Order: sequence, then C-alpha cells, then structure tokens
Amino acid sequence: MKIGIDLDDVLADSLPHYLQAFNGRFGVEIQLADAAWRLADRFPQIPRQEADDFFSELITDGFFSSRSLIPHAKEAVETLADGGHDLYIITGRTPRDEQITMDWLARVGVRSHFEAVVHRTCDPVERHKADVASGLGLGLFIEDELAVALAVADTAIPVLLFDRPWNQGPLPDTVRRIESWPEALAQIAALNGNGAHP
Ligand SMILES: [Mg+2]
Repeated sequence: MKIGIDLDDVLADSLPHYLQAFNGRFGVEIQLADAAWRLADRFPQIPRQEADDFFSELITDGFFSSRSLIPHAKEAVETLADGGHDLYIITGRTPRDEQITMDWLARVGVRSHFEAVVHRTCDPVERHKADVASGLGLGLFIEDELAVALAVADTAIPVLLFDRPWNQGPLPDTVRRIESWPEALAQIAALNGNGAHP
C-alpha cells in the first residue's frame, strides 16, 4: 500500500516546541489546544511580518534540525518499509527548508525508507496535501492536523490522525484517531487484511 506520512508531529516532535518559542518571543500564553503553525493568522495583535521573521530566525537557529523523533516512529517506519509498503513524506514545510529536512531524515536514520519527500508548493496546506495524496493514489494518510485530515478524507483516502490537543473535533468515519505509532501499525495491519503482506 502507498502510505503518505506527515513530518512534523507525526515523525518529528515539533509543534509544542514551536508554540513554546512563540509564546516566549511574543509574551503570550497560547495553549496547546490552540497550537498551529500559522499562529499569527489567529492573533492579529501580533504583526505578521514579525511572526514571519521569528519563524525564519528559528529555522536559521536550527529548530528543524534539532527535533526529536516521535516515540516509536523510527521502528514503525522500518516495519512498514520491511512489510513492502511504499512510504511518502508529505509535509507542509516549503522547499526553502528541503535540505534541512533531508539532512534530519538522514541523521535520524529513516531517509532511505521513503520513496519521496514532498514539500509544499501551494496554499493552503490542506489543499496541497489532499492534491498530492490523490495524485499519488495513496491508500492511507497519517497526519496530525485536523484540516488536513478532513481534506484528505474528502478525497476518499482513509486517514489516521494522531490524537493531539490541537486537532480535537468531530471526524468522519474515514478518519480514525490513534494514540501512538504502535496503534498506527495495528490499524494498518487491520486495513491490510489482518496483517497480511500487501
Ligand atoms: Mg504535522
């Protein structure tokens, strides 16, 4: 099966650390339930340019390079690749950060397991990911953002959604919440016919 996998907060532990840095920089106390990559869109009191500059500085200072893996992500990717699945990273990061992304994937030891790493070339991110997912003919998508999960599910591709404070809300039947990578593997085995190889 072709499986699309989000990068930040599915493979890399990112958004809570971005939120913490954002809160510190702008003197606000945004909670995890309100976390998002485009916080300035929701908080007009923070000038957009300042928020953009802050994000650029964060990346220059090594934010994406220093992320930790989400627990069990590496073993899960290895298991899926060994099981014959074709894996694609589909990220909202832009091509500007592609080298940082590829270096990080190599450093944590999972880069060779992916057929491709697709960065975002259009807005909004949910449109980009839904278009890529349907273009690739994916059989499954694994994500942490609610808007992306809903947009991908609209293309009739089932979604596993990592349960996080920032993605709460009602879901269609084709989107299933999961707590962890081991649970994702169990769901994929079930989708694939009780653990049979693809
Ligand atoms: Mg994400």
